Amino acid sequence: MRSILKRLWLPALLLAVFETVAVVLWLTKDNLFYLFNFSYIGLCIATGLALYTFGWKHARRFVQFAVGTYMLVYLGLIGRENMQLEGFWYYLFSGVFEAATIHYAVAKIFGPLLFGRGWCGYACWTAMVLDLLPYKTPRYPRKKFGWLRYVMFGLSLAFVSALFLLHIQEKETILFWAFLIGNAVYYGVGIALALLLKDNRAFCKYLCPVTVFLKPMSYFSLLRIQCDTSKCVHCNKCLRVCPMNVAVNDPSRKRENGTECILCFECTKACPTKALH
Ligand code: SF4
Ligand code: SF4
Ligand code: SF4
Repeated sequence: MRSILKRLWLPALLLAVFETVAVVLWLTKDNLFYLFNFSYIGLCIATGLALYTFGWKHARRFVQFAVGTYMLVYLGLIGRENMQLEGFWYYLFSGVFEAATIHYAVAKIFGPLLFGRGWCGYACWTAMVLDLLPYKTPRYPRKKFGWLRYVMFGLSLAFVSALFLLHIQEKETILFWAFLIGNAVYYGVGIALALLLKDNRAFCKYLCPVTVFLKPMSYFSLLRIQCDTSKCVHCNKCLRVCPMNVAVNDPSRKRENGTECILCFECTKACPTKALH
């Protein structure tokens, strides 16, 4: 019984955090949607983590599809909310703390202080598809194309700024179409890059503009893979299975590519001495 409770403390903690956000937003915004939305996402994540701790190998993929399809299909396509970076700028400039601004605040700006880039491992609908491709671990060393993410970030900001500065009407309709086209482009470019560079997560590493928020915040993440160097035998198995090129056997926060960790736990599974946890 004690071992079961020990395994479930993290899923329970995450569920409690999401439930707190759900209730606070429901009551402060007087909108039942927030209770449903954050309870659903929290429940999916907590269930997936619990399944993982009991050894189900598809647990992360379960969460990815449960949350990713909900956000893409229900919120994005049916609810016509632009949940991409452009939607965040739009609501921010409109002075509305709703939809994409809340989503970004929780999942991509302040949440990473607690759960790092859990969003990238368990919820992103772009990576949900990219992870189906054949190159689960990169075949080649990392390229120095990371600066491209800042170009993408700037283009996104410039696009939405222009809508406001030029007093364009029907911004919501434009933002909906931007969501459709933006996702199609992300999928197309993401798949092409993955096949070209033989790396499923190439889009995440070089192009995704959201990482401009995610990377600095996740540096301070409470939840991170720890390495007990006294148990490490330097076999490098953890490095070979990591999809994000993280030097996870370095215990310091400054480990190479440390802010890329998506908490997939492939390294902990591969480590023969249980040095990673
Ligand atoms: S880096 Fe971007 S595309 Fe990749 S998982 Fe994270 S948010 Fe999604
Ligand atoms: S393999 Fe380990 S270090 Fe690499 S992304 Fe997954 S959890 Fe992070
Ligand atoms: S797999 Fe484990 S033992 Fe091997 S290098 Fe990584 S942390 Fe060290």
